[in-house]
Amino acid sequence: MSGKVLVLNQDYSPLTVCTVQRAFLLVFLEKADLLEADQNEELHTVSTTYPMPAVIKIKNYIQVPYRGVVLTRQNIFKRDHGLCQYCGIDGDLTLDHLVPRSKGGKSTWNNLVTACKACNAKKGNYTLEEAGLVLKRPPFKPSYIMFLRNNLGAMKKEWASYLNAPAVA
Ligand SMILES: [Zn+2]
Repeated sequence: MSGKVLVLNQDYSPLTVCTVQRAFLLVFLEKADLLEADQNEELHTVSTTYPMPAVIKIKNYIQVPYRGVVLTRQNIFKRDHGLCQYCGIDGDLTLDHLVPRSKGGKSTWNNLVTACKACNAKKGNYTLEEAGLVLKRPPFKPSYIMFLRNNLGAMKKEWASYLNAPAVA
């Protein structure tokens, strides 16, 4: 039994993703309702067949503090899909400060982008304009949901309507 289950809060907002085992337990303990079953899989026991959970919804609303995505090197790479934001290649990556640190640039979501070492070297202590580099996409602070969406690998089609995005698989 593998695979992941999307967990929604009582108000249908996405909370997290859990294992199939955990989802079964939550439903079994009546802490969550099964909203969507996996359309391709079932769980067979000796005597019964159970639907394989794909989306469950927690019965009692869980107060969640604002959850931002932690600013780390890996998370910036993930946000940028592991591609240099200047030339688009996917190897030899590092982080680049748009406004160089020497010019007061901070380490923030909006000032850090994934860059290959060649572009990083070209940029050096220059600003974008000075270095003659153009960003493929302006950097942004990812929302938790976007982060979930981007980092689950292939998203199950049963999740799409709850995450408000087209399914990958
Ligand atoms: Zn590059």
